[in-house]
Amino acid sequence: MADLNVKSVMHRCAFCGNIRVLVAKGLCRQCYKSSLKRDCSNCGKFRLMHARGLCSNCYHSLGVNRHVVCASCGFSLPHYARGMCRNCYNRKLIYALRKKHKKDVS
Ligand SMILES: [Zn+2]
Ligand SMILES: [Zn+2]
Ligand SMILES: [Zn+2]
Repeated sequence: MADLNVKSVMHRCAFCGNIRVLVAKGLCRQCYKSSLKRDCSNCGKFRLMHARGLCSNCYHSLGVNRHVVCASCGFSLPHYARGMCRNCYNRKLIYALRKKHKKDVS
């Protein structure tokens, strides 16, 4: 029975032509992922892009050297995301999650 279900969502991938489960833009998971890959402007490797033309590896390793004034705590710290240091970003994330949770409960 499970086989029938899987077959009903399978279509011909627009890129590789195989009958697969399509994830986005008429492409199978494999082709869609490779369509997101570019040559990283730092390491030059053909990888999945994270941001600013960099692979996630380079983005985060370069981020370690790129200090910014954190938008939340005001200290000059390695940029992590949204103009904040890793600590503040994680704290905000947890705070937002907790708030959401509280809302759901009450
Ligand atoms: Zn494909
Ligand atoms: Zn890279
Ligand atoms: Zn901070």
